[in-house]
Amino acid sequence: MAYADTRHAKYQCITSIELSNLSINSWHIHTELLPDEALSSWLIRAGLRHAIEPLAIGRIIWGHWRVWTRDIDRWLPNQRLEELSQEIQIHRDLLYHVTLTPWARQMNLSPLNPQQRWYWVTSLSHRNRSRQSSFAFCPQCLAEDDIPYMRKSWRFSWVTTCPTHKTILSEACSHCHYAVNLSRHTLSSKSLRYCTSCHGDLTAVSNQAVASKQSHEIQGQLIEALYAKEPVAQDFTTLKFLIKLIRQSLASKRNMHNSPLHTFINIANDTRSPLCSICFTELSIKDRHALLTAAFKLMSLKDSSLVDLLIETGVTQSAFLKDKTELSNKILRISKQLPTHQRVRLRQRDASIRWPEPRSLEATQRLIKILHKSIRADDK
Ligand SMILES: [Zn+2]
Ligand SMILES: [Zn+2]
Repeated sequence: MAYADTRHAKYQCITSIELSNLSINSWHIHTELLPDEALSSWLIRAGLRHAIEPLAIGRIIWGHWRVWTRDIDRWLPNQRLEELSQEIQIHRDLLYHVTLTPWARQMNLSPLNPQQRWYWVTSLSHRNRSRQSSFAFCPQCLAEDDIPYMRKSWRFSWVTTCPTHKTILSEACSHCHYAVNLSRHTLSSKSLRYCTSCHGDLTAVSNQAVASKQSHEIQGQLIEALYAKEPVAQDFTTLKFLIKLIRQSLASKRNMHNSPLHTFINIANDTRSPLCSICFTELSIKDRHALLTAAFKLMSLKDSSLVDLLIETGVTQSAFLKDKTELSNKILRISKQLPTHQRVRLRQRDASIRWPEPRSLEATQRLIKILHKSIRADDK
């Protein structure tokens, strides 16, 4: 993915590692950007080190622009990026790479609209400065940090587990259940490790759920490829399609019975679940994690096994062709191997009194293999 349209050539191919040398040196106390640190975390830390609270730091950089009602970790308008660049004396193209924008662009085949929700970035909705949703965090990472700070990757909607500790991320203070809102820090805050509401320690969490090996590995591979600036849009488009397919399948009344797809992904089959009704980015980490674990399972199948599973579940080409622009090459390839219409036996009311047509030996063996693999994965 190229950024030549808007960015200086020198900074086009900057990777996450190269950002680690950034430091705010124009202010009295130098504040380094820590590895994978989110923009708001960096600016708020720098401000607090100078005994300046987030509201005031926003005014110093941007005047009357109400920065903390926006999501500057995600995107900054050009003018605001320029103002920040002038204030902290760092090139705006480098600062652009501190935001989530270039990384989100890399994950998408189609252009992103800053005024709309981005599928792969969680939204931090606000009412004035009160945050409705939380900055996710890993309590163990914060506990081990010499300088506690918030990671940019914790804002990705597909990152639900800590890449280091393999545990599912937290999204609220365990003491008061208040959302983590960095702009609420004051001079009395000891560090970003403490809750801005009850001042409790965010790292005091017990019994954190651990992610499955497969889910952790695939998420890790995606993070690595993204930050190394590899082309990942095809993989993310496949992942998005599979999540959509799983959600449609969970919401479908016909599939309330155990279909091969449901048996394989093994998600609780309740149509009242928010898994089916709320926008993916707005779901809780727990729900997103369940969907992603299921989607990663499907993603790791060979094309031929996925085709068999979909045919056995009664998925047809029509499920794929509604939204052509969002199809990856892999999904297009798979869709072409599916029937164009549902089999007659699925449409007929008297299907239950007929014997199903026998599958081929090869298809049966492949299906048994998939189900065995699924059972083994669940045992881990
Ligand atoms: Zn961690
Ligand atoms: Zn609290």
